[in-house]
Amino acid sequence: MSRQLAQSARKRFGQNFLVDGRVIDAIVASINSSPNDSVVEIGPGHGAITSGLYSSGCDLTLIELDRDLVPNLLASFVSKSPNRCRLINQDALTVDFGRLGTQLRIVGNLPYNIGTPLLFRLLENVGQIKDIHVMLQKEVVNRIAAAPGNSAYGRLSVMIQATSSVKPLFDVSPESFTPAPKVESCVIRIIPNMSKRIRIQCMDTLTDLVRQSFGQRRKTLRNNLKGIISLEEFDYLEINPQGRPEQLSVDTYIELGNYIARQRGTV
Ligand code: SAM
Repeated sequence: MSRQLAQSARKRFGQNFLVDGRVIDAIVASINSSPNDSVVEIGPGHGAITSGLYSSGCDLTLIELDRDLVPNLLASFVSKSPNRCRLINQDALTVDFGRLGTQLRIVGNLPYNIGTPLLFRLLENVGQIKDIHVMLQKEVVNRIAAAPGNSAYGRLSVMIQATSSVKPLFDVSPESFTPAPKVESCVIRIIPNMSKRIRIQCMDTLTDLVRQSFGQRRKTLRNNLKGIISLEEFDYLEINPQGRPEQLSVDTYIELGNYIARQRGTV
């Protein structure tokens, strides 16, 4: 079975199927879904995680890009319980998550090539998401959870931590998949947090600011934010213009974004 899965796996779809029952159980247990939950699984593949989710009785939306996997997913889950299971045969990066409901619980052993862009896409609909449990490369999880001053701290850390609490749950070694990926993986829990989000006065301004600030990591904030913040404003805001982008805390980015939004009159 494992060899068949490895042979059928498509590299371009980032297919590394989970075959370690203990890891699958640990993921399903960490999600702990119930009949009241609206779960959206991205990339169900052959249904390794899907079976546990399905058994919990939750409402289940499956988003799978590979059409060759669709018949099996339909037969195993959707046709058995069409009132609470559906399948979207589409690239998850093009799905409008805002139309899938509210209080969504997003789940997935994500194909590595879409992990980061997908998280940014989910951030656009963060108000409709209850929580996210995803497996990603460990390196990406480290970036999401990094603290200021750490070399992994960057745009992904600031944008996710500005709106959500993050908790890396457990590491998963390459042997738990077939075919085995080249890198370590990690499951992370991300919980959007309303009290964090309401501090952000203009999300677009914060997004632009963070993108510009980390535009060139080795450059100073003064260089990266030329034309956006003057030297006098750095002084007024008590931020060192010679500092590097990774030295500012998430709170400072939020305050700076709010300041810029007020100056531009966008709030
Ligand atoms: N959930 C299964 C498991 O744990 O064994 C499969 C995980 S595999 C790492 C990633 C899955 O995502 C594959 O089924 C792949 O076909 C699917 N996939 C790849 N790119 C996708 C995309 N852009 N949108 C939706 N699904 C995608």
